[in-house]
Amino acid sequence: MKKFILFLIMATLVATQAFALNVFTCEPEWKSLTEEISKDKADVYSATNATQDVHYIQAKPSLIAKIRKADMVVCSGADLEIGWLPLILRKAGSAKVQEGGANLIYAAQYVQTIEKPTRIDRADGDVHPNGNPHLHLNPYNVLKVGKVIADKLSEIDSENGAFYQKNFADFSAKMNSQIKTWEQKALALKGANVITNHKNMSYLFDWLKIKTIGTLEPKPGIPATSKHLSELKDITEQKRIAFIAYAPFESSKPAEWLSKESGIKAIVLPYTIGGNKETNNLFDLYQNSIDLMLNTTDK
Ligand SMILES: [Zn+2]
Repeated sequence: MKKFILFLIMATLVATQAFALNVFTCEPEWKSLTEEISKDKADVYSATNATQDVHYIQAKPSLIAKIRKADMVVCSGADLEIGWLPLILRKAGSAKVQEGGANLIYAAQYVQTIEKPTRIDRADGDVHPNGNPHLHLNPYNVLKVGKVIADKLSEIDSENGAFYQKNFADFSAKMNSQIKTWEQKALALKGANVITNHKNMSYLFDWLKIKTIGTLEPKPGIPATSKHLSELKDITEQKRIAFIAYAPFESSKPAEWLSKESGIKAIVLPYTIGGNKETNNLFDLYQNSIDLMLNTTDK
C-alpha cells in the first residue's frame, strides 16, 4: 500500500511537471511562435483559430478560465483585441497576468506599426488608432516578438532560460535564411497592385513591396456595399490589378463578385496558422502566402 501511495504521488508530480508554464495567446500565430521557443516546456493555448475574426470574439467563461491559469499572455495589441481581452483579464482577476502587467506581451509594442491614422473619427469606421495591428504577416516583426517571448520565458522560468534562448536562436537562424529565399522568390510580385477585403494583409504586402490600391470594405469593419464595389470595378478598368485577396474567416461574396466582373483572380490567403491545410507553422504561412500570390501572376 505504501508503495502504491508513493507511486500515486510520483505520478501526480510527473503529471503536473509535464509543462512548466501555461501560456495564453490571443491568436494562432503567437501560439505557434511561443511553441517554437518553449517546445515541451509550456502548455500554449490560443483563444482564437483561423476561422475566427479576432476583432470580434465573445468573452466566454472558458476564455476567462484559461487566462486565469496563465503565467504569461501574448497578443497582437494595438487594440486588435480591445473588444474582449480587457474584459476577460478583468473577470479572471489573476495576479500573474493583467493589463499593464509585466507578463502580458503586446506584440505591437515591439514593432513599428504601419498605417497609423492621422485623425480618429468614428465616421471612418472601425479604425485602429495605434496603427495596423495585423503585424505578424511580416516575418521581421515575428523575429522581434520572438526575442521578447524568449526573454520573458527565461525570466519566468529561469531554470530553462538557456533552453528557450537556444530554441529562439535556432528559430531565428532558420527564419532569417528563409526570408532571403522568400524575398528573392517574391521579386516577381514587387510593385503589383492588389485589392484586399480588410487591411489585414498590409504587413505582408508592405514587406514584399506590393501595393494595396483598394479594400472591399468601404471603411474598416464595414461590409462591402454595391456602390463601393462598382467603384472598385471602375478602378480595375483603369489599373492593372494582380489579384483580390481575402482571409479564410471573411465572406467570399464581395471578392467573388468583383472577380467575376473584372476577370481578376480572387484568392484566399491563409492569414494565420491553420488558415489552410498547408499552413501548420509560421514558415508555412509565408511560404504558402507567397506561392498563392505567385500563382496568380502571368508567366
Ligand atoms: Zn483590423
